[in-house]
Amino acid sequence: EKTEVAEMLDEVADRFSFQLEQRNIAVEVTVEPGVRSIMLDRDRIDQVLDNLVSNSIKYTPEGGHIKIHAGSPDTARLEISVQDDGIGIPRKDLSRIFERFYRVDKARSRAMGGTGLGLSIAREIVKAHGGSIQLDSELGQGTKVTFTLPYHQEEVVL
Ligand code: ATP
Ligand code: MG
Repeated sequence: EKTEVAEMLDEVADRFSFQLEQRNIAVEVTVEPGVRSIMLDRDRIDQVLDNLVSNSIKYTPEGGHIKIHAGSPDTARLEISVQDDGIGIPRKDLSRIFERFYRVDKARSRAMGGTGLGLSIAREIVKAHGGSIQLDSELGQGTKVTFTLPYHQEEVVL
């Protein structure tokens, strides 16, 4: 059956409520009117959302903000973004960020744990849904990851 988008996004925020509170990071979930419920592989999309939110938490200092937003750029597509006002990613690393095992600056990443697989897996999952994913970031300003999913696709093949 179809997934209710606002509910899905509220649940992601809930899964991280402890960490968010611990790090004093505020999270805001907003859903534009026009967003419809959607057929998707819920476990896989949760995996994408969990990685994006956990990345934002890892790379956003205390007192920061995370915005999880859903909109529909046109009637055929759902667009979800996770935006933070954290440390950002240097311009030179942006083109490689979706590669497997790629992590910015070994030193800052090692301290955080993780394997550098999250974004490459996220891209595979989104592609399997017939969608696309992009990352925008400004060093010292923050990072925004946006992915789009068609409301209708033939079949999710993973
Ligand atoms: P894993 O997701 O496998 O636990 P990871 O989080 O290091 O490990 P990715 O999610 O693929 O791996 O992210 C790759 C790298 O991109 C991260 O190591 C980090 O350097 C950078 N990065 C990702 N998201 C952000 C963000 N929101 N802010 C700053 N840097 C980020
Ligand atoms: Mg990650």
